[in-house]
Amino acid sequence: MKDVIIIGGGPIGIACALECKKRNWNYVIIEKGALTNSLFNYPKNMTFFSTSEKLEIDDIPFISNNPKPNRDEALEYYRRVATSNQVNINLFETVETLKKTGTHFTVNTNKANYYTKHIILATGFYDIPNLLDVPGEDLPKVTHYYKEAHPYAMQHSVVVGASNSSVDAALEIYRKGGYVTMIVRGNAIGQRVKYWVRPDIINRIEEGSIKAYFNSEITEIKAHELTFKSPEGLKTIQNDYVVALTGYKPNFELLNQLGVSLSNDDKKRPEYNPETMESNIQGVYLAGVICGGMETHKWFIENSRIHAKQIATHIEKTLNQ
Ligand SMILES: Cc1cc2nc3c(=O)[nH]c(=O)nc-3n(C[C@H](O)[C@H](O)[C@H](O)COP(=O)(O)OP(=O)(O)OC[C@H]3O[C@@H](n4cnc5c(N)ncnc54)[C@H](O)[C@@H]3O)c2cc1C
Repeated sequence: MKDVIIIGGGPIGIACALECKKRNWNYVIIEKGALTNSLFNYPKNMTFFSTSEKLEIDDIPFISNNPKPNRDEALEYYRRVATSNQVNINLFETVETLKKTGTHFTVNTNKANYYTKHIILATGFYDIPNLLDVPGEDLPKVTHYYKEAHPYAMQHSVVVGASNSSVDAALEIYRKGGYVTMIVRGNAIGQRVKYWVRPDIINRIEEGSIKAYFNSEITEIKAHELTFKSPEGLKTIQNDYVVALTGYKPNFELLNQLGVSLSNDDKKRPEYNPETMESNIQGVYLAGVICGGMETHKWFIENSRIHAKQIATHIEKTLNQ
């Protein structure tokens, strides 16, 4: 019987593990992919909007070349934190079902079954993209994850969305010689786009280097073209690739299996005590971005790394009772 099982080996899951380790608890992280799998899947050339000290966990210094680190530096940092602290983690193992039985929990994965007194859900949101739900979305030329610009050079690409990820992808593809059209459901570039990037994209659109259609939505994707509805009616354009960066959503299935309540609106916020991070189910804790439900921008590393200490302090109290 474990004291704690942490589901998800992202930055926040690792932070929780460090707290468990300090207390000599019998714990394990179960991670479906590589260590910090979400960060591993981020665009190759991305730079964090946070400065490195804001991404530190357990006060372990994060030294980066520039104030804001890039993906490789973050991978290096979290990897070093996990390896040098000998964090107990099972990689490439997926949690499939969770069940509360009396005072403990059963955790079933694709490899084994475990029993634990406490569960920390730190599964993030990056695994499940919000789909466009249009014919042709399953074509190989459509992706919901942008990696790097090279394949899009000298090709006609549509970037869907106007958030940070979409804007970064559109600018990078344009600068590597791609022909970029942005298709945006709203009427402007997102207000949350980094303040130092926003003028760049707006200027590129105004000068016509990047085409942008606002109040517009894709209706069909075909092998060599794409149709969308715009305020001027249906338009069909030449198209080689679709980079649909329309956001992601947490895995609500695991929350449902445990009986964690979700708010009744479209935000689907899970219920938890903000001081202890314990959900409405005793012994089940939420950590990291999962806490925001569909509001995936609300929590990030910077403001959720503190969850680890809150949770450990509360578990400590319950174990000592
Ligand atoms: C492009 C980009 C830039 C960002 N920049 C910043 C920034 O500058 N500053 C900042 O603070 N935040 C930033 N963020 C947000 C930040 O990366 C996330 O908030 C962070 O990853 C949250 O950590 P987490 O541990 O909660 O979730 P994640 O890092 O997503 O980790 C969750 C883990 O759970 C695993 N998992 C999921 N389901 C299962 C399962 N069933 N079984 C086992 N494992 C499972 C996943 O594989 C994943 O590794 C950025 C995000 C993006 C996309």
